[in-house]
Amino acid sequence: ANRLINRPILASIRTSAFRHNLNRVRELVPESKIWAVIKAKAYGHGLEGALQGLESTDGFALLDIEDALWLRAQQWQGRILLLEGLFHENEIPVARELHLDLVVHCEAQIQWLETNALAGKPLNIFLKLNSGMNRLGFTPKAYRNAFHRLHAAGYHLHHMTHFANADQIDRQPTVGQQMECLQKTIEGLEASSSLGNSAAILWHRNAVGEWARPGIMLYGASPTGLHADIAHAHLEPVMQLRSEIIDVQELKKGDRVGYGGRYEAPEDMRIGVVACGYADGYPRHAKDGTPVWVESENGLGVTCPIVGQVSMDMLTIDLRAAPATGVGTVVELWGAVISVDDVAQMSGTIGYELLCALAPRVPVSIE
Ligand code: PLP
Repeated sequence: ANRLINRPILASIRTSAFRHNLNRVRELVPESKIWAVIKAKAYGHGLEGALQGLESTDGFALLDIEDALWLRAQQWQGRILLLEGLFHENEIPVARELHLDLVVHCEAQIQWLETNALAGKPLNIFLKLNSGMNRLGFTPKAYRNAFHRLHAAGYHLHHMTHFANADQIDRQPTVGQQMECLQKTIEGLEASSSLGNSAAILWHRNAVGEWARPGIMLYGASPTGLHADIAHAHLEPVMQLRSEIIDVQELKKGDRVGYGGRYEAPEDMRIGVVACGYADGYPRHAKDGTPVWVESENGLGVTCPIVGQVSMDMLTIDLRAAPATGVGTVVELWGAVISVDDVAQMSGTIGYELLCALAPRVPVSIE
């Protein structure tokens, strides 16, 4: 089953895990339809695997119009939401042609839509309220006016906002504060709404709206960055990143490993050189002790720690816990055993960043 070829590195995308995670979202918010968020090439997993695994979603939400084109070329006939991607007036006819739903967040877009209003061909607009995150969206004051103008121009409107802290209870603005702002702003404006990201689906189910927008949980990683926080949700990791040991070094006590000689052998020991480095998307900032899973013939395997600085094409691991291993042994960097969140935590970031940063040079297999 292991198809590590050439340079032995492979990202396997498990479509069954996508299906499982989408079902989990449906179980958590059964009343909501689902925009599966697949921006950034499906958080680094590739659009192809995402389409195969998530084809029972109600719609896909993405950023780049090229990705919408690709989905339509694959005969995806469901809905597609162009997240904050509508940046130019030229894209409106394309959006119409491809039957895209649009997020509208600024005055210029309203003017373009007014100019390009076409009777009989109404687009679905998700009108974005800035309810406190202060990234994109209309202020509460401007929102009602924007709503009325687009309504008058014949568009189908939906409310939309995005939460800054659905994964935190002690940070402002809270979900409660943002919901209060939304409710006040949309009073009397009849429309369905799209509110909740993964964190809201997991922890604020009353703040999701008719159209949920899960991203990270569909990939089986944690919105908070801590794997333990999603244990209760029973999500499955979709991407498994594996490589192989391509060389073994026998060190003497006091020998040092890699650039900067960061790691010093505390005793005589074996080091495994693994064909995965930061040019593959593995974080260069991974600290000594970051776990990898060293597989074994009998399927038992063992966790070994990274020692020494991750370099461009390789990283080095302490093989003291795996005395029988040698060149050709398969190593999981993240996936089934080692959670991407744990690797991220050891390098000062979150799983989102590592998944999105998987390098194009890494071959992908859809399973
Ligand atoms: N909705 C919007 C507008 C987003 O920008 C994102 C991602 O950042 C999501 C939904 C999905 O968020 P998450 O991956 O945390 O579920």
